Amino acid sequence: MNCPQCEGILVTLEFDRVEIDHCPECGGVWLDSGELKMLLDREGGDFLPEAPGLAQGKEKKRKCPICSRGMKKVLVGGNRILLDECPGHGLWFDHGELKRVLEDACAQGRGQDLTDSLVRLLDEVFVP
Ligand SMILES: [Zn+2]
Ligand SMILES: [Zn+2]
Repeated sequence: MNCPQCEGILVTLEFDRVEIDHCPECGGVWLDSGELKMLLDREGGDFLPEAPGLAQGKEKKRKCPICSRGMKKVLVGGNRILLDECPGHGLWFDHGELKRVLEDACAQGRGQDLTDSLVRLLDEVFVP
């Protein structure tokens, strides 16, 4: 798959049976549909809002790396982090956004250990 942001080739990592595709060029992360939920739902609770707020697009539209259709902007979590979503395929996180979403989940008392280890993994992967 190609990075929706910079066209770099996405590299797949496996974290606790969840596949995480990341772009070594720009530090973005792609999660297939349901994978973020799988990560966060192990601790129970719904983290992602069912009807996320639609964002006004200041950022340019990105294309889904799977179907190449334009993704929609969604706001996620208490900090209202702006992500790109292709319904049915997955979510795109710009550099640092996945970490913010996880920290946000953590702040709500979910998945502390999981979040710590995932944040560590991401820190190792994304050496500045
Ligand atoms: Zn990239
Ligand atoms: Zn798609």
